[in-house]
Parts: sequence; C-alpha cells; structure tokens
Amino acid sequence: MDLFDRNSTEHANLPRNMIENSMFEEEPDVVDLAKDSTAFPAFPSLDPDEVSYEPRSSRLLVRGLGENDMDEDEEDCESSARLLGMSFMNRSSAHRSNSSPYTRQPPPRSCSRPSARTMVVCVLFLVIVASMTMVLYFLPGCTFTKAGCRKQNKTTPAEPISPISTNGELFPWAQFRLPRSIRPLSYELTLSPDFDDMTFTGRTVINMVVLHNTKIIVLHGANLNITKATFKLDEGQTRDVTVLEYKPKQQIAIKFTEELKTDQHCVLTLDYFANLSHTYDGFYNSSYIDKDGNKRVLAATQFEPLSARKAFPCFDEPAFKATFLIKINRKQNYMTLSNMPKAKSTPLSNDLVQDEFEKSSVNMSTYLVAFIVANFTPISKNASETMVSVYSVPEKKEHADYALETASKLLEFYNDFFDIKYPLQKLDLVAIPDFLAGAMENWGLITFRETTLLVGKESSPLEKQVVASVIAHELAHQWFGNLVTMSWWNDLWLNEGFATYMQYMSLQMVFPKLDIGNLFLAVRFRAMDKDALNSSHAVSTEVNTPEQVEEMFDSVSYEKGASILLMLNASLPGNQQFRKGIIHYLKQFSGLNTVTDDLWNSLTQVEVSTHHQNISEMMSSWTSQKGFPLVTVSRKGDQVILTQEHFLLTSDNNTYTSSLWNIPVTYVNDSCSLAPECRQVFTLKSKSGTLKLPESVKWLKLNYRNTGFYIVNYGEEGWAALTDALSTNVGVLTHEDRASLIHNIFALSRLGRVSFRQVLNLLNYMCNETETSPVTEALLQLNNIYRLLDKRQESGLVARMKTYIMWHFGSLMDNQTWSEEDSVSKQELRSALLEAACGLKSESCIQKAKSLFKQYVESNGTFRIPGDLQQVVFSVAAQSEEDWPTLLSLYTHATYDSEKRKILQGLASTQDSRNIVWILKAGLKGDIIQTQELPLVISTVCKGFAGYLFAWDFIQVNWDRLIEKFRIGSFAIQTIIKSSTSQFSTQTHLEQVQAFFSSLKERGSQMRSVQEALETIRLNQLWMDRNLPTLQKWL
Ligand SMILES: [Zn+2]
Repeated sequence: MDLFDRNSTEHANLPRNMIENSMFEEEPDVVDLAKDSTAFPAFPSLDPDEVSYEPRSSRLLVRGLGENDMDEDEEDCESSARLLGMSFMNRSSAHRSNSSPYTRQPPPRSCSRPSARTMVVCVLFLVIVASMTMVLYFLPGCTFTKAGCRKQNKTTPAEPISPISTNGELFPWAQFRLPRSIRPLSYELTLSPDFDDMTFTGRTVINMVVLHNTKIIVLHGANLNITKATFKLDEGQTRDVTVLEYKPKQQIAIKFTEELKTDQHCVLTLDYFANLSHTYDGFYNSSYIDKDGNKRVLAATQFEPLSARKAFPCFDEPAFKATFLIKINRKQNYMTLSNMPKAKSTPLSNDLVQDEFEKSSVNMSTYLVAFIVANFTPISKNASETMVSVYSVPEKKEHADYALETASKLLEFYNDFFDIKYPLQKLDLVAIPDFLAGAMENWGLITFRETTLLVGKESSPLEKQVVASVIAHELAHQWFGNLVTMSWWNDLWLNEGFATYMQYMSLQMVFPKLDIGNLFLAVRFRAMDKDALNSSHAVSTEVNTPEQVEEMFDSVSYEKGASILLMLNASLPGNQQFRKGIIHYLKQFSGLNTVTDDLWNSLTQVEVSTHHQNISEMMSSWTSQKGFPLVTVSRKGDQVILTQEHFLLTSDNNTYTSSLWNIPVTYVNDSCSLAPECRQVFTLKSKSGTLKLPESVKWLKLNYRNTGFYIVNYGEEGWAALTDALSTNVGVLTHEDRASLIHNIFALSRLGRVSFRQVLNLLNYMCNETETSPVTEALLQLNNIYRLLDKRQESGLVARMKTYIMWHFGSLMDNQTWSEEDSVSKQELRSALLEAACGLKSESCIQKAKSLFKQYVESNGTFRIPGDLQQVVFSVAAQSEEDWPTLLSLYTHATYDSEKRKILQGLASTQDSRNIVWILKAGLKGDIIQTQELPLVISTVCKGFAGYLFAWDFIQVNWDRLIEKFRIGSFAIQTIIKSSTSQFSTQTHLEQVQAFFSSLKERGSQMRSVQEALETIRLNQLWMDRNLPTLQKWL
C-alpha cells in the first residue's frame, strides 16, 4: 500500500500570516458568524447539524486578544499561547478530571473542607477503618510481616476471560490470532451489490484441510449477517451448522461435537448480507459527479490490513493463503473487475448479469483480494506477455497514457530484475475517484487515487514523478508482498520497506530524468526524525491488536525499512550482489510467507559479501531494536576514534539504552571526497573503534552521500573544519553530503549536543548553495523553528528569522523563473524557495503569484500554471478576500485531481477564521470536499497561526466522527494527530493534549502517535528553553 501523503516531505512553505491580529479586528466574534451559514452567501452552505463544531477556544482567543489589546512590543510569555492554553484548560476541565495514563493523579484530599455531607461520609469512613483495624488485630501476625501470609491471603488469579457470542453461548476462542488447526485451500465468492439500498448479499464457499485434530473452526467476519451456514466433511452429507459470532474480535466460529481429524477436507458454505461500507475499507461504496453533472455510484474494495472480513467470511491473516474464484452479479450498465481476467458473463433474471472470473492461478493472502463494480473505461497494451490496462472514469481516459507507458516499462524492468516473471496474465491499474490511501497493490488489480495515476500530457515532470513512483511501489509489491508475503503484520516492513526501496531504485534506473534521488534523501531524513523519539519502535516489532496493526503503516516500516536496505546495498561490494541475494530470497520463498530472519539468512546463504560478512548479524541489529546510532568522531594525532550510542531525543535525562548497532561506517576526506572510489568503509560493531588517518587530513565526512541510517557528530573542531571547507568551496562535498551535514547538525542541536551558534555557523555557507537537497533541507529546518516561534508569538524573533532567511536565500529566491521548467530538481528547488518567499511576504513573489493567478482565471482554462508553482500561486490567492471564493469555485470545477489538491491546499492555507471553520467542516462533511482529503486539509490549516488552534479544537470536538471515518491508528489519524500537535511548545498545551488523549481511553489513547505527540511537545519546550537566549543573541 502506498500511504501517499507521507511522501510529500513538506516543502518549506512558511506560514503566510505574520501574527497580525487584523483578522480578529475585522470580525470580533468569528464563531457566531461561522455558525451562521447565511453569512457566507458565496460558499455552498453546510448543514450545521451534520457537523458539530464550535471552536470554543478560538472564540476565547479572539476575545482574549481583544481584551488584552496586544501589541508587538509586549513580550509577555503569558501572552497568546498561555492565554489560549487557559481557554483550553477551561474547556477541557472535564477531561482533566479523568485518570490519565500520563499524569500522576494527586491523592484524594478528602475532608479538607467538610460540608455536612462529607462530615457524615468521613465519620462513616472512620468507623469502617476502626472496624477493619479490629479485624486485622485478630489476624495472624504474619499479615503484618514483610513477606505476608501468602498462602492464607488468597489472591484471585487472572483468569482468561471467556468471550460470549452474540447469541449468549460461550465463544470457543479467546485470542486475537486465529488457531492454526485449519487451513483454507480455496474460496468461491459470489457477491451481489445493490446500489439502490447500498447493501450486498454474498455466498462464500471455503474448502479447507484439517492440520491438527480440532472441534472448532474459527475465522473472521465483521458486520456480516449470516443467514445460512452448511458444512460438509470429506464425502459426508452437507448439513446445517450454527455460526457463533464474537464481535469485539470480528471472529466467527463453528463448534463440533466430534473432532475433525488431521488431513480431513471440509467445505463451509455461508450465505450473508451486509451494508456496503461508507468508510474507505471493506467493500465500500463511492460516488463522483461526472462531466454532465450526474452522480455516479460505484463500489470498490480496500482490504489491507484487516478489512477483507468485512466483505466475506475468511481467515483474514496474511499467512492463510488460498486460491479465489470470484463471481459478481451486476446491472447491465456496469462493468466489474477483479484480480483475475474475466472468464465469462451469464445473464441472470432481473436484468442482472453474472461476471465470473478465472480461479486465481496463485495462492493469495486475503488482504490482496479485490473487486470493483463501476463504469470505468480502459486503455490497454501488451507488455512482457501481460495485458496491462489503465482504467479511469470515461472523461479522464486521455489522462491515462502516461501511467500505461510507465507501468509497462516498469513491469519489464521488474521481470528482468527479479528474474521471475509476473505470474498473472493481466495487470489492471485503476484510478478510483474516492480512495484514501495513495494506492493498493491487490494482485492483478492495483487501485489508485486519481492523483497517483492520472496525468495530462501537459503535466509537469514533478506530477509525473508522483505517478511513476507510486506505480513503481505497487508493481514492486507484486513480488515483495504478493509473491512472498510477511507471515504477520509485525514484519510489514518486508512488504513496505522493500516496495519503498524498489520504488526509488527502479525509478533511478528506468527513469533517471525523474530525478527521484532528492526525494529519497529527504524521506530518509524524515524517517530519522521520527525514529529518534522514544515512542518509535523496532522495524520488526510485536503486534497484538488491530490498532497496532494499523500503526505499523508508518515511516519506520516504509522509509526506515527502505533506508536500511539502501545501507545494506551500499555496503556490499559490486552492484549485483544485493540483487543476487534478493533473487535467491524471492525464489526460495515464492508463494510462501516469511519472517525477517528468512531474508537475512537468504542473503547470507548466497554469500553476497566477499569478505564473508554475516548479513544476518549485521542487519538484525537494525531491525530488532528501535532507533539508530549517533556516531561521534574524535581525532588524536593519526587516530580517529569513533564511538556509538543510541541517538535518542528525550526530555528525560535519565533515559539510557545500551543498544549497539553493526554500522557500516563510510567516510571520505579532503584529499578525495566526491567520487565513489574515495569512499572507505569501517565496520563499527562495538561501543567504539579506531581507524588511522594521516594527520595531514584536514577534515573527514562520514556517511558518504548519506546512504547509512545514522547521524554523525564531528565535535567542535570537526564541525569547524567542515564549515570552513564549505565556506571556501561548496563543491568539496556531494550535494547529498551537504544536505546530510545540515540535517545532522539540526538534529544534534535538538539533542543538545551542538549549540545553535554552531548551526548558524554552518548555515553561513548557504549564500553560495544552489543545489536542491541542501537548500530544501535548510529551509525546512529553519521553517520548523520559524513556526514554533510564530506559534509562541515571539514576534521579535519571528521578524529576525524572516530577515535571516531572506538574507541567506533572497538572491536565490529572486533568481527563480515562473515559466514551465523541465528539470524535476529545479522544480523542487523553486517551489520550495518560492513557497518560502511568498510565505514571508516577499513583495516580488506575491506580485508574481497574483499576476499568474489573474492570468489563469481570465484565460478560462486555456492558461495553465506550471504544476510546481500551482500551490504557491493558489496559496497567495487564498489570502485575498475576493479571490478565496474564486478559488473555491475553481476547486469545485477542476477535473485534474493533482491540480484540485493544490487548490485545496491553497484554500486551507487561508488565515481568515471564517474560511478556516468552513473548510474544516466541509472536509468532515465530505460532499464539496471529499473526506479522503480531510487529513490534508487539517495538516495545511495547522501550518498557519490562526488555523492550528481552530484545528486542534475541531479535532477534539469531532474525534468520534474522525475515528469513524478513519480507523484508530490508521495513517490518516497519525497525520491528523501529528499535524495538530507538533507545533505546541508550552506546558499548558502539553497538559491539554495529555488530558484530551487520556480521556479517550479505548477510543485512541493507546496509540503510539499520541506518545509521539506528547514527546514532541516536550522536546519543543526543551528546545525553546535552551535556545531562545541564543536566538535572541545571534539571529
Ligand atoms: Zn506499499
């Protein structure tokens, strides 16, 4: 699965407001206006009953600021942020009274101010205590000894809770994972969706074999109303059976009086009906408006990770692979698709047609099954003896050519690279108008968002890069994931880490012009930022609940997984060794399930390393423990001492881990630093190691081109030497190495190991920097700090930071062009620079953006803004009171999904509180703005000063609706939590976030992303405490 928005590594688009309070002055009570939809004649109205949202704290903010009459000179820490915090505290006092897993509760102080009632209670309490003392007096003396009277004092052992089925009977299974006594061999599914009442009926026939004697069959089923169940054992009679259901675990079971014996075959047939899902998983209904304005309904599936059970009863774990024969009954004006080619169509009564697909020629995990009922149009071509087709809604057919060409080329590449031919006869890629993930790798029927599959001929190379990289990811899954599958979700990285790595690697080889390297470097930096937190997890980690399964879809499984594969590949001699190893792995486990060790053992077996490196030993240190190492360099004469420790960002000084990694440290020095031949390798396995280097060497740069997953601290002298070298000549290091120095020094500053003064020293060379990755990394890091200062209302520092950024990047910003640009790298560079420039209110930037917008509106669709500049242009337009409605109207009429998303980001970047409230509501309601875009709306709104408070309040008020739309732990929820909390840096906000999430209990308090949010706020707080004085002095 591709999570899509995780790849948008967030160009450094700075907040567009500069904490002006003018927005509040115009509309003193924004809330009342926001609630009154008639106040928005230009916007389509929303039914206030459908979306409950009242930004209470924001109202307090408005009034609070008005009353205090803030001005710029007032540098009172109790200002806006605290004020806001107080307003939140008022509102969330109910949450705070709940016991919190994060805060220690004060002991109850009963009787301190006795009322008559409490007096009575206290007296009663004293009587009880006195009686108990009497009783205890007569107890054996051992009661009061340290050891106690264990035998006498019976403690109740924790008994397993017996689940009760919906019919009141005992459910025979109490575990999350299914028993291993039965294995499904094949499924035959018949599904009949009804779009009039949004339901479907189904019949599932499962052929199974008994692996161990058992009296029960347990499988999954969620919200399926089973109307009939029959069972047949070997050649025996078919008989009716009772199906028990245990809803909390989405399991169903059949109990037998006689044991089913090993090797017996049996057939279970289940008839059922259910609603088509109205969320984005299971067998869900979706709709779109066609070019004639008619509403079109369709149904599609998204099963990964745990939702196949919502469409048919099944053994819904990746290790239960089986074959599938699928039949779908449809109306004549619809078409259907599934994993396999269509075998035949048979007319039924009632104007229905039954499409039957070939039985799958491969064993598949249930999460890879897929089917679609829609009106899509294909374009097709034959590639490597496979029929490749791209399906879209009919009016977007001409946007499918690029995807078809790209998929065909990549299919050929993978067939050759893996030395295993894609096993199915056809490969469909389908653009679904309403789809939450970026794409899903269902075998033979890959589903996509429209943005990740459809591009017009005139689309920019950056838009094509998105499409190509998502296709490359999903095609890689046809081998990594579909052919060889992880046994359980704890090893999800075997699917996702590999597909992510192959996505970047294949694009570099097949489409070098798409210049994917900068993006891959940036996502590795972001993966480190997350993995540096204590809330991170090992690549391969225990998973025991549905929420934990959902949470595995994160940057550790994807980007860290990909990063450690890159590190392994880069540390092996020659460029074919890695490939040889993975071909061996794929062939050895073709059609089977694996665990992480299988991969390392497989690679070790083919001796991919000439110096007999034990791959398994090396790589398991990267997959079995969380985090990554910090390598510190110190030089004494000709000796270079390298030491390693866990790079753990924590606000708690006592946290220490003894983790050690087997690090293939690479390094270059001033005598030879650019060419790959310059690179030397040193394996650091223990706490420290020493290498020799002539004393004449002026500087060292470790982690050549940042292919390793570690951060390096060069010590004061080492950093100074590198800073000097770069200020003399930018070209002494590769651009990846320069970006890596920038990333590392900011990370070290966050860790407290380098001063912010050192960071600024290094950045002095930036005036001469023109390459994309160092510039975008520096802008992103500065932007993060800018936003924190902005949200703290450190207005003096905010102004100085703006001057600092303009001083260092101003001339580069001014040199950017605004016309079509062919180079992806230049597009990435200019979009980051111009977004920053316009965000900082650079007059020339804003004027150019405005004039492009005018030209675009007046051209009536004939003039197109270059794809990489759309977001900056739309965001500038969105700040204007008169252009915002124009932009909204463009949004509702836009057909290009990628352009539509950029318009949406523009709309969401508004600093007008009425518009912010409207867009949040509209995203939740889901008609004008599709709900699939709500995480994007929220994260964009949160970037601005006005928006982030509204958004945080919105999330608290609408939490239950959010987790109804997006599952707890899902990537969408992770994004929402992260974007809404990552800019808090005060104690008040910390307490508030704690209080809110702990009040949720099973509705989300246990999520890892909640821990991550709290840690991030604490770290922000710490960073501010440490660095505000430095910033005051040096900025
Ligand atoms: Zn994937």
